[in-house]
Amino acid sequence: MPVRVVVLGAGFGGLELTTVLSEEFGKDIQVVLIDKSDAFIFGFSKLDVMFGRQLPDAVRHPYRDVLKPGVRFVQTTVRSIDPVARRTVTDAGTFDADILVVALGADLDPAATPGLTEGGQEFYTVAGAFALRELLPTFEGGPAIVGVCGKSFKCPPAPSETALLLHDFLTDRGRRPASSISLVMPFGTPIPPSPDTSQAILKTFAERGITFVKDQLVKSLDPARKVAVLSDGAEMPYSLFLGIPVHRVPQVVVDSGLAAHPHDWVPVNKQTLATEFPGVYAIGDVNGVGTPKAGVFAEGSAKIVAAAIVAQIKSGTPPEPYKGQGSCYVEFGHNQVGRVDVDFLSGPKPTGTFQEPSAALVAEKAHFGRSRIARWFGR
Ligand SMILES: Cc1cc2nc3c(=O)[nH]c(=O)nc-3n(C[C@H](O)[C@H](O)[C@H](O)COP(=O)(O)OP(=O)(O)OC[C@H]3O[C@@H](n4cnc5c(N)ncnc54)[C@H](O)[C@@H]3O)c2cc1C
Repeated sequence: MPVRVVVLGAGFGGLELTTVLSEEFGKDIQVVLIDKSDAFIFGFSKLDVMFGRQLPDAVRHPYRDVLKPGVRFVQTTVRSIDPVARRTVTDAGTFDADILVVALGADLDPAATPGLTEGGQEFYTVAGAFALRELLPTFEGGPAIVGVCGKSFKCPPAPSETALLLHDFLTDRGRRPASSISLVMPFGTPIPPSPDTSQAILKTFAERGITFVKDQLVKSLDPARKVAVLSDGAEMPYSLFLGIPVHRVPQVVVDSGLAAHPHDWVPVNKQTLATEFPGVYAIGDVNGVGTPKAGVFAEGSAKIVAAAIVAQIKSGTPPEPYKGQGSCYVEFGHNQVGRVDVDFLSGPKPTGTFQEPSAALVAEKAHFGRSRIARWFGR
């Protein structure tokens, strides 16, 4: 009997994991990959669509194209997970696994910030980002805020990138002189593990007249008065509010007992990504391993778990411990991309190195995306 691996979630983590297993075992393994969506969309594509740099259809990568030996994709919603029995109940039936990998990502909870859904826009969901593509061109000016609403959020550079891309967008449309741009973040600097990257971003903000409001969250919006209320009680007026909603553990994962509550990411062994339940792993944004919530870390953790599964099936040597390393591309606007390489788990504290923004890194980022699509979807 081939080993049965069930992978919940076909994002960065789930796609990478199933690709490695298919490459390694072909038809000699039975992998079921489950996702409720019909297509994969890169996080950074949301910014491309919202700022009119890409068409919505161009950034959707349909899962029907996942045709890998040994892998069956099932589009359905996960309703319950029993990590002891390694059994998953979905709208399309029940799936039993020898090895269960939870890669369901982080859910977004705009309703957790009073006033956000009525009085502002969020751009972290596909629907929110795509809607902004129509709405942003109607913004004629006034105070614009890019505001983070919860401490733990995907892609720490994304709010800074959004402020810089908004600057370009408004400049191109002649609306920048009539507008101000502020970024509200819960950190003291834009990218705390990399002082060089933070310094470069802050310098660029200063050059482009973007205000960085540090160590604050947006706790609520008052749509009637058009003000954002920060954690220290200060109020900021806005005409345009682009929010990063509170992130939370998917409820189905909390209900399974894998996470204790909605803001307690699944505890895992930092070196192996194994949960406390034998044969059950948690990779990517859903876990609390201590790396940022970003695709590159989801991919890195997927590689470790894939290697552990290969070693287990082939009775080989287990992989080296997970190091929490990843490279993130950072949009600086003006058609330039920088790069930060971060290492979270190798040393006593996280470290990061920075590459200055350049056109060469624009090409490298495009290659990064294309190479993943080629690898995961065989195109
Ligand atoms: C604006 C923005 C920009 C970003 N830019 C970058 C970047 O430049 N680089 C980078 O590395 N990262 C970036 N990210 C972050 C990146 O998108 C995520 O960190 C990454 O996708 C996490 O991968 P994952 O596999 O853990 O989860 P996800 O990719 O979120 O995948 C989880 C999957 O689980 C599915 N799912 C959830 N619940 C259920 C259920 N109950 N039943 C069935 N399916 C379910 C979802 O449909 C989803 O497909 C960005 C994010 C945003 C929002």
